Amino acid sequence: MIDAQQVHKSFGQVEVLKGIDLTVHPGEVACLIGPSGSGKSTMLRCVNHLEKITAGRIYVDGELIGYREKNGELYEISAKEAARQRAEIGMVFQQFNLFPHRTALENIIEAPVQVNGESVASATQRARELLASVGLAGKEQNYPSQLSGGQQQRVAIARAVAMRPKLMLFDEPTSALDPELVGDVLRVMKQLADDGMTMLVVTHEMGFAREVADTVAFMDGGVVVEAGPPSQVLDNPQQERTQSFLSSIL
Ligand code: ATP
Ligand code: MG
Repeated sequence: MIDAQQVHKSFGQVEVLKGIDLTVHPGEVACLIGPSGSGKSTMLRCVNHLEKITAGRIYVDGELIGYREKNGELYEISAKEAARQRAEIGMVFQQFNLFPHRTALENIIEAPVQVNGESVASATQRARELLASVGLAGKEQNYPSQLSGGQQQRVAIARAVAMRPKLMLFDEPTSALDPELVGDVLRVMKQLADDGMTMLVVTHEMGFAREVADTVAFMDGGVVVEAGPPSQVLDNPQQERTQSFLSSIL
């Protein structure tokens, strides 16, 4: 589902991704872990072309992201085409980014109606089901300010799922939450994984990574230092940098 090949990304003179290779198969969950500044968010944002890569290729479901290739040269696609690609990839951020002046239900139906052209009636029906599936039946009419952080994040997840994405990206979805609210959000994410969603998740939640991830990739200094199943990367890391990172967060 994701095939990233030798992805490089620079901001000005500073190269923050230095040749990332990453493969996530359909239905799999990959977790990106690593110290602050290692390039995790940047990599995630490259996957849906919120950041332009400076070299390499990223394919999602076989389609080159952000560029068109012709005779070995890459040409950036139009903003409209990029938006179409992005609409097929759900993204959930640390800060939930709900529309503050729309109810939970209105937040969820917005894009299916405006972008995908679904009828309000069918989008509303689906939004109710999605809210129920994230444990928020009865909160349809609440505004974001009337929801806890964990509830807002579950609305944000439901909103992303409502677009029927091929893939979902999560950037530290529980980092802004009070500790007692983290579990509910992780349970929703685990349910999504169990339902077969392909997910790339930047997280510091090692319990989640161990339980749910098929692959864990440890990034440091803009490279993937070590990647593999959690039993390998988390429990038996081969690289010294991985070992010292893991011992620093325990
Ligand atoms: P954290 O765990 O703190 O979220 P991260 O692994 O997600 O860290 P990134 O946010 O990807 O790290 O940042 C990687 C590097 O790129 C950092 O040195 C950061 O300062 C730099 N960087 C990120 N975005 C920009 C930008 N828009 N302009 C310039 N530099 C940037
Ligand atoms: Mg980050």
